[in-house]
Amino acid sequence: MEGKIRLEVVTPYGLVFSDDVDEIIAPGSEGEFGVLPNHAPMFTTLKIGMLTYRKGNHTGYLFVNWGHAEVTHDRVLILADSAEKAEDIDVERALAAKKRAEERLKQAEKFDQARATAALERAVTRTKVAEKAK
Ligand code: ATP
Repeated sequence: MEGKIRLEVVTPYGLVFSDDVDEIIAPGSEGEFGVLPNHAPMFTTLKIGMLTYRKGNHTGYLFVNWGHAEVTHDRVLILADSAEKAEDIDVERALAAKKRAEERLKQAEKFDQARATAALERAVTRTKVAEKAK
């Protein structure tokens, strides 16, 4: 569509989001980056964070977990390890994952600390993104 960007968010679990939007802000591993229509083509990696898009006067939020983004002049394809729309985030589940990760971080000899740190970051970020849906 003229003057729009097709945003697609895909994970191994399925298609999470697909729509024509006006603007995107994504959590690049080197920092947030913004995309407007006719952006120069680029390819970048993503970190755990919040993706924001604007469609007219609606702003939407998604949680994204690692992966990469492929930007062409009229499309942004996000391939993430996992992702959810803010309104689809199960906050109870994220809080349980946070508690589990915190317990694991206290038992360095028993649990992989890098894995627990990443799980904690996912859980905390999910709760923050879910707040945006309120
Ligand atoms: P958990 O320990 O609760 O499984 P996780 O961070 O290990 O959390 P992921 O590996 O990132 O989970 O995701 C596995 C699948 O579960 C994905 O489809 C993801 O979208 C979904 N998922 C994980 N946590 C939530 C949540 N709080 N709300 C909704 N979907 C979730």
